[in-house]
Amino acid sequence: MASKHDYLERCESLAVLGGTFDPVHIGHLALAEEVLQQFRPQRLLFIPSANPPHKQGRPKTHSEHRFKMVLAATCENPAFDCSRLELERPGESYTIDTIKQLRKICPAGAKIYFITGADAMLDILSWKNAEELLTLCSFITVRRPGAASQKLETHVAALRENFKAEIYLMDMPLYSISGTEIREKLARGESVRGMMPIAAETYARQHGLYQTVQPDLGPEHFEWAKARLKQQLSPRRFKHTLGTCQEAEALARHYGGDVLKARWAALLHDATKEYSAEKKLTLCRKWGITLDPVLEANIDITHCMLSEESARRDFFVEDSEILQAIRYHTTGWRELSLLDRIIMLADYIEPHREDYPGLEQMRELAYKDMDAALVVGIKATIEEEDLIHPWSYDALRLLAGEGRG
Ligand code: ATP
Ligand code: MG
Repeated sequence: MASKHDYLERCESLAVLGGTFDPVHIGHLALAEEVLQQFRPQRLLFIPSANPPHKQGRPKTHSEHRFKMVLAATCENPAFDCSRLELERPGESYTIDTIKQLRKICPAGAKIYFITGADAMLDILSWKNAEELLTLCSFITVRRPGAASQKLETHVAALRENFKAEIYLMDMPLYSISGTEIREKLARGESVRGMMPIAAETYARQHGLYQTVQPDLGPEHFEWAKARLKQQLSPRRFKHTLGTCQEAEALARHYGGDVLKARWAALLHDATKEYSAEKKLTLCRKWGITLDPVLEANIDITHCMLSEESARRDFFVEDSEILQAIRYHTTGWRELSLLDRIIMLADYIEPHREDYPGLEQMRELAYKDMDAALVVGIKATIEEEDLIHPWSYDALRLLAGEGRG
């Protein structure tokens, strides 16, 4: 059977970045990129530690989660890899054991660099079998410009002298970012956008790491989503959103629908509505939303599909009924569920809507005959707009046909 590290069997030069990665952040990625540029190793291997001897005390996030976050973060650079080597080795993680294992996998004579911070290098003689380690691989040690480096330079000179150690000092600007800071922010429910790769952040949130809000559609999750939307939307749009929530809840109660799902679908239905046309187009491409001719001509309608996707990606909603109601809230479609109908109608008639043709009549009908109210709404849209999406005609056929013989 092929080894899990067979991609290293022909690797002549390898840089290793070990760490707890709890979680991985852009400081780690910037460091790795800098090493790639300055030292040109063929591969850069991130190795999350299982049980680092120097970090006992604070309970770590499960190694499987830390590994998956690093994997998510390193997928986009073809030179980056992430290894389970230390996770699968029983006992504590010692660098010497890791380097020995890598030496066995890589071709004889391969260049192996081990990356460390300045503090770690100053401390290196306390590591397990330090003297041997210093001869087994080269070291790249980060030196912060401006930081007092005399002590480091003296220390490194001595290691070179005494142990024939190969140590390179790499200058790199300081990213004042740490796993600790990210954990604290996430625990307070604050944003860490820009501090860690989105794929890793999404993973952390979806798995409820660092005591973030659990994406369980409960009250805490809802308040978190609401606060986030408030920042993202204009006051006018946010007011409309809250109005739609209120109306959707009332309709769901009246017609025996799912109140919680109605509240969520209403909250997120316009999440992406205020994105610019350029951003909508770009996201459609990125998220694989295909544009039919009507969407092409009226890009604004894509806010339905984009909000569905944003609900999934940014707000961690996975419920297919909620997502469907968001997707079809403007156009309708041929199989409108009760929830779909509630969201469409709530959007039409929410209390903050200013008068438009048909509104009076829809409000009049809303709690007596929901389908009749929707027919009025869709017909009014058809009269007003130049280009109508075929789904609206499908919806009309369904609503007008049902129960009316
Ligand atoms: P914690 O705050 O939990 O100590 P950390 O952010 O320091 O986490 P580690 O997993 O301890 O992350 O670090 C792994 C490696 O990345 C170490 O070699 C460390 O020196 C380096 N590193 C950590 N933060 C940065 C940063 N902001 N810029 C560059 N390198 C960093
Ligand atoms: Mg650290």
